Amino acid sequence: MNNALAGQLPEELSDSLSLNASFRAKQIFRWIHSGASDFNAMTNLPKDLRNTLHQRFPSILESSVPACRTDPDDGSVKLTIRLKDGLFAESVLLIDGRGRKTACLSSQVGCAMGCLFCRTGTMGFLRNLSASEIIEQLLMLKASYGDITHIVFMGMGEPLANREAVMKAAQLLHHPEAHNISYRRITLSTCGLADQIRTLHQDPPIRLAVSLVTAREDLRNTLMPVNRRYPLRELRSSLLAYQRASGRRITLEYVLIRNCNDTPEDIAALAGFCKGLKVLVNVIPWNPVEGLSYQEPSPAGTEKFSAALEQLGITVSKRLRKGRGVNGACGQLAVPLNPASEPHESS
Ligand code: SF4
Repeated sequence: MNNALAGQLPEELSDSLSLNASFRAKQIFRWIHSGASDFNAMTNLPKDLRNTLHQRFPSILESSVPACRTDPDDGSVKLTIRLKDGLFAESVLLIDGRGRKTACLSSQVGCAMGCLFCRTGTMGFLRNLSASEIIEQLLMLKASYGDITHIVFMGMGEPLANREAVMKAAQLLHHPEAHNISYRRITLSTCGLADQIRTLHQDPPIRLAVSLVTAREDLRNTLMPVNRRYPLRELRSSLLAYQRASGRRITLEYVLIRNCNDTPEDIAALAGFCKGLKVLVNVIPWNPVEGLSYQEPSPAGTEKFSAALEQLGITVSKRLRKGRGVNGACGQLAVPLNPASEPHESS
């Protein structure tokens, strides 16, 4: 087990810190998740216990924030997180007009899935993040921006390729004495690992989003190498099985790329994929990424595409462009400070 403190439940803290009284573990748990930076701040612990723990853990968090940028256009924030081993991850905070604060958390450094339109996909896979490293991203966002209302696992990485750590983080996010965020406000976004989706109803009941991008097999094979392992028929059947078992609606994310997946043929294929599934289609205009030659759709093109889906009876949500000014928008995350790695398909 990773012994970093922010990734442990109270009973685990009790064991790893060799505490005799379980209420001490609960006190420490509450302090950690309320943002205490060292044991000396935990004023309801006996002084000798604080000193012992402080000697063992000079700092509660193992990660740090060397850079934080705010998008002047929309107020969204991107944190660069320096991990214990010197690698970097990124997190984004999106704030909407109604005060909803959504933290977009990373689950891996880089990503092995190699989607051609995604900046993270171009950097290859370096390693999984631990539950603690995932929670530390949230703690660092909360330290500067206060309580977070929603969580999306849509940062760097494929969350289902690091499922155990992500689900542990979801438990901690939900824990009433930690962050108390409803599971309905936590969403995991996958590129479509069908075998994992089939058993997902057994995990904490967070929401599922699938980055579909296209319902045309040939195009998906090209844009998303994962489709060669789990073709659309298999992905769809896993979603049906998940929906039967969980009863939950699924979000299909459709990153719209001009002159690529925005034709009438694409609309027909997407409508066919949706048939029989309870879904919301989230149309996300592709965000430019340096070095990638895809084209972003015009606002009118995005509107037209969405309207055509609605006419076919599909529920659509359009995501506002956010975070572009800090390269923190969907598909734009990558940290050039990380060492280069070869992109590959498997996880
Ligand atoms: S879109 Fe998601 S799964 Fe695909 S390469 Fe990017 S981070 Fe990985």
